[in-house]
Amino acid sequence: MDPKLEERARELRALLQKASIAYYVHNAPILEDSVYDRLYRELQELEQAHPELITPDSPTQRVGEKPAEQFPTVSHRVPLYSLENAFNLEELKGWQERLLRLLGRTPEEGELEYVCELKIDGAALALTYVDGLLQRGATRGDGQVGEDITPNVRAIPSIPLRLATANPPPVLEVRGEAYLPLAEFERINRERCSAGDPPFANPRNCAAGTLRQLDSRVVAARKLSFFAYALHWPEGWPAGDPPQTQWECLQRLKELGLPVNPLSQVCRNLQEVAQFYERWRQAQLPYACDGVVVKLNSLRLQEEAGFTQKFPRWAIALKYPAQEVPTRIRAIVASVGRTGAVTPVAELEPVLLAGTTVSRASLHNADRLEELDVHIGDTAIVRKAGEIIPEVVGILKELRPPDAVRYRLPSHCPECGTPLVRPAGEAITRCPNPDCPAQIRGQLQHWASRDALDIEGLGEKRVAQLVEKLGVRTVSDLYRLTPEQLESLEGMGSRSSQKLVQAIQRSRQQPWERVLYGLGIPHVGVVTAQTLAQHFPTPELLAQASIEDIAQIYGIGREIAEAVVSWFADPAHQQLLQELRELGIPALPPQKSPIAAQVLAGKKFVITGTLPTLSRQEAKAWIESRGGKVTASVSRQTDYVVVGSDPGSKLKKAQELGIPLLSEAELLALDPGNPHS
Ligand code: NAD
Repeated sequence: MDPKLEERARELRALLQKASIAYYVHNAPILEDSVYDRLYRELQELEQAHPELITPDSPTQRVGEKPAEQFPTVSHRVPLYSLENAFNLEELKGWQERLLRLLGRTPEEGELEYVCELKIDGAALALTYVDGLLQRGATRGDGQVGEDITPNVRAIPSIPLRLATANPPPVLEVRGEAYLPLAEFERINRERCSAGDPPFANPRNCAAGTLRQLDSRVVAARKLSFFAYALHWPEGWPAGDPPQTQWECLQRLKELGLPVNPLSQVCRNLQEVAQFYERWRQAQLPYACDGVVVKLNSLRLQEEAGFTQKFPRWAIALKYPAQEVPTRIRAIVASVGRTGAVTPVAELEPVLLAGTTVSRASLHNADRLEELDVHIGDTAIVRKAGEIIPEVVGILKELRPPDAVRYRLPSHCPECGTPLVRPAGEAITRCPNPDCPAQIRGQLQHWASRDALDIEGLGEKRVAQLVEKLGVRTVSDLYRLTPEQLESLEGMGSRSSQKLVQAIQRSRQQPWERVLYGLGIPHVGVVTAQTLAQHFPTPELLAQASIEDIAQIYGIGREIAEAVVSWFADPAHQQLLQELRELGIPALPPQKSPIAAQVLAGKKFVITGTLPTLSRQEAKAWIESRGGKVTASVSRQTDYVVVGSDPGSKLKKAQELGIPLLSEAELLALDPGNPHS
């Protein structure tokens, strides 16, 4: 046995146990559920591969935790189990295959039928009704022994004290979830905060904590709710047939006056299960829901499938994707961005996070490294919030291998060897060398990106080749590249070289706002670039603007204004703008084109029909950029009518008035020096 594996299993057990007590006994979790689930899965897999690692106290061998001392304990007549987890549909399929094998069924015998119920994140309750009267309410505890919390259960208004039937089974065991509606959870936490008490981490902990209040008036004041989801009749069913399916159980529970979640549904196959899962994934529900519980519908088949020590084999919890998961840091690299900022990036063991596989996560900066005390080999907690790139939000120090090495940012740029600098009071460490290849690559990539000049074919790898092999230094160098040069690069054929040159040349037509964004001025994102371009329609006008001129624009702060002015003051940037200007970048707005001579000054045009190449808008812009005017209707003042296919009544009017007609080609020929632009 590899001592490292033994060590890992021991550490995982210890951490999971600690977390489990914090969660079940103190209702104050120290880990996110998704992090707990992943670590639990890792331990489970280790134990499966090496059964000699299993210890009787392993969290994989037991349900929940032993009850705390303050309540009398009760032995459950029918034990309460936990649920196996599936984290995606693949795992759900695997579960069904195992189930089919277990039941000795072939796929030809038809699909299994399931009931899907929302997995509400609350606390399990076991209710015992004797002769129709609520006799006892208990927590799950470790599944065999729970806490008798009857007075608190009686304080939950939706739990009936008497069943709504004249003929109840002698003993009825009801199982369900006590939960806090989200609005109530928020209200309780607000109150706790104003009283100086620590808030509950989540509605589940709040529900579990509430159920264990010693004073049931506190329970009554917090509006706990309840959904029943299981039913047992250990001493027989009074008259008629007992339920045969899970679905019938839910219906009977309802008839008996117990609240049942109305969103449950029978699914005839896994496809319908997947649809149910998707339907409620993003739903705004009034309670916390962390997945879907899939249960075999037939109680006969449930009995055949039976239980493991911990789970029913006939049910599984299909969890919704997690936002936070643990994974190991394989290495850390210092990545130099286009502005020279050096970011430590963790290279991770790939892990599924919020639906995508993640293998890199940001560690932000030197301070963050220090604060988290990151070591290579550590198990890190990685989070993805919204669209942002994943980040490391914590380190599980308990799982740190003894040989893990602490990581610090290097003192010199890993790309160009220049000593790194960190100005006093700033969080960011920078490479101060403007010729650093990493910065050049970053700038070129930013220039080519979709929201900037949108040059197809200029990905990370290609840009690295251009810098390394063809000596590209600035974005203006891109426009001097020839197909022959590109062909010399590995992986470039003559066609792809032609295509890339065309894509680069085409980008010269992009408007000023995209160019401005592409310049990568600090703090100037897409929206700011658009706003600035509206107020300063050419690079020259923006270059002349003062901090005050810029800062007074609505939505633009002083910080941005200062960044813009200081960017334009840099001689290297002025040189770049000059080079771009010579290349005709940005494309100038047609109406202000200094290139086009005002050959149509004073002339009035009307356009009718569809032109062969120019859109109506383009033709109008072309005419206006040469001083002409386009009007909507033909009159004696009209100088020319431009006619395309399917012309309207304007053609007739022009003919009546004897106004000269032009085809598109004839129109363009009016400016021989400057055709179609
Ligand atoms: P579980 O919560 O994953 O699943 C079983 C429970 O689901 C049942 O006991 C029941 O209360 C509930 N449930 C909700 N709706 C249900 C329905 N319709 N049908 C059946 N059951 C339904 O399992 P568990 O054993 O209670 O706890 C394990 C989970 O607890 C882990 O997955 C983990 O997320 C969490 N946990 C977290 C920590 C932590 O540190 N954050 C520690 C221990 C456990």
